[in-house]
Amino acid sequence: MEGIKLNALMLRSADYGENDKILTLLTAGEGKISAGIKGVKKAGAKLKFAAQPFCFAEYILARRGERYTVTQASEIESFYDIRTDINKFYAACSVCECADSLTYGDGEDSALFTPAVRALTNICNGDECSALIQFLLSALSVSGYTVGLDGCAECGAPLLNEELMRFDMNAGAFTCRDCGAGPGASGSTYSVLRMCAGKSYNPAFVTPDGKKRALRLLREYLAHKTDYRFQSLSEYIRLI
Ligand SMILES: [Zn+2]
Repeated sequence: MEGIKLNALMLRSADYGENDKILTLLTAGEGKISAGIKGVKKAGAKLKFAAQPFCFAEYILARRGERYTVTQASEIESFYDIRTDINKFYAACSVCECADSLTYGDGEDSALFTPAVRALTNICNGDECSALIQFLLSALSVSGYTVGLDGCAECGAPLLNEELMRFDMNAGAFTCRDCGAGPGASGSTYSVLRMCAGKSYNPAFVTPDGKKRALRLLREYLAHKTDYRFQSLSEYIRLI
């Protein structure tokens, strides 16, 4: 049996047997892996923290064939404040859900690890909504589904002063209303996404519900690309 030491973020856990769990870990070097963890449902279990949502820790795993078991863990960051604020909680769940949906466990998909840890840090310490939008944009980009934010994908018109436009789900980009055939999108969605991507934007279009619209559009686009149900993201959108 070989032991492996990995920094990882706990994305998801499922009950297994009476006291055990199976964790889905996003690791810094080995992509997404599943690992069993024993006895963590018992009161006072020493490794209980390692099976908590958003736990960022150094995990020590024993490997037998293709199966991993967590034997030890030391916490790097618990992101405790996320658990005391319902909006932050669902924003953080949305980060984990999205990271899970965009990685396939083939051992080579660690590119989302750093953006996910950064997003949880920003959600914990600041405006969770912008942090979530920023993460979704970079996660899509890392996964090869970059959201096109540089004008109309058909004719190149800048779109910054347009109130109504369209979003082409196949191209992952905005178009003029008359150029494309995708679902309608608003100037506020476009400006909020450009703002969160660090690009110039039209401040007049950054309205209170612009972020909500932007999140709805990103959810539709993610679902279009992955066939995954984004339940936490939907819950977060309902809350804000
Ligand atoms: Zn156009």
